[in-house]
Amino acid sequence: RELDLTDQRAVNRFFERNRPDFIFLLAARVGGIMANDRRPVDFIYPNLLIECNVMHCACRARVKRLLFLACACVYPRDCRQPMKEEYLLTGYPEPTNVAHAVAKISGIVLCRSFNKQFHTDFIPCVAANIFGPHDNFDPLGGHVAAGLIRKFHEAKCAGLPKVVLWGTGKPRRDFIFVDDVADACMFIIKRGSPELVNISAGSDVSIKELAQLVKGVVGYKGKIEFDPARPDGMPRKLLDSTRLSSRGWKPKTDIKKGLEITYQWYVSSAYAGNRR
Ligand code: GDP
Repeated sequence: RELDLTDQRAVNRFFERNRPDFIFLLAARVGGIMANDRRPVDFIYPNLLIECNVMHCACRARVKRLLFLACACVYPRDCRQPMKEEYLLTGYPEPTNVAHAVAKISGIVLCRSFNKQFHTDFIPCVAANIFGPHDNFDPLGGHVAAGLIRKFHEAKCAGLPKVVLWGTGKPRRDFIFVDDVADACMFIIKRGSPELVNISAGSDVSIKELAQLVKGVVGYKGKIEFDPARPDGMPRKLLDSTRLSSRGWKPKTDIKKGLEITYQWYVSSAYAGNRR
């Protein structure tokens, strides 16, 4: 809200006025599988602008360190699992989110290029599927965890007999709670990292298992159905967590606890009239 990161002049002015030492470049246009598939330009154009503007200004301002967050879609669609950092750029991304993936791959390559040519300390990271309070709960535009919370909550309130979810329910995702991602970012920026780092929950669940968990947390009593005519996306996206865990970092919130916190937040913000 303070600053339009796609506006290069505004970003320049911000750096001149504020002279930051450390930067967490987490800002991005993001969305779930349907939004990415239908509106690819929205997920490449602003993200490339943001990355170019911020890294260019950070380099000129000689910031001490910058952390850039990409997401697991940067790895190849049929990547070996769990996905190690060195598998980046060894294959073609999942077609439903190729535009967003290429923007995020470009961000990682920009970090490496600035470091090589201008001796900056830009650290690229890849986060698993993030969820938590303040997520985008829009059923068409958002990601699966927030989308399911909303679908099950609304079905419970309306007394609907079933909830229909997208795809086969078989894809597996590595869900990480937002506070753990924030904690990992602090851990990484304090210590530095000479190379790409994955930020992972350390395990994955199928969409079917996620749906059962959300159903339980929300207290919905009806049935779950899957619509295989909708896309599944990547079959599996489990990040290899060895690099970060060997340095001493572990997530603190398991998926069930994270979903409970998120659902409580959703209900209180929905009743406060802030639902997105
Ligand atoms: P992805 O991780 O980039 O594929 O993005 P999403 O978080 O949007 O979707 C993850 C998986 O959940 C995909 O296999 C979707 O088909 C599946 N899914 C099932 N129901 C839903 C839903 O209601 N919303 C979303 N966003 N995904 C769903």
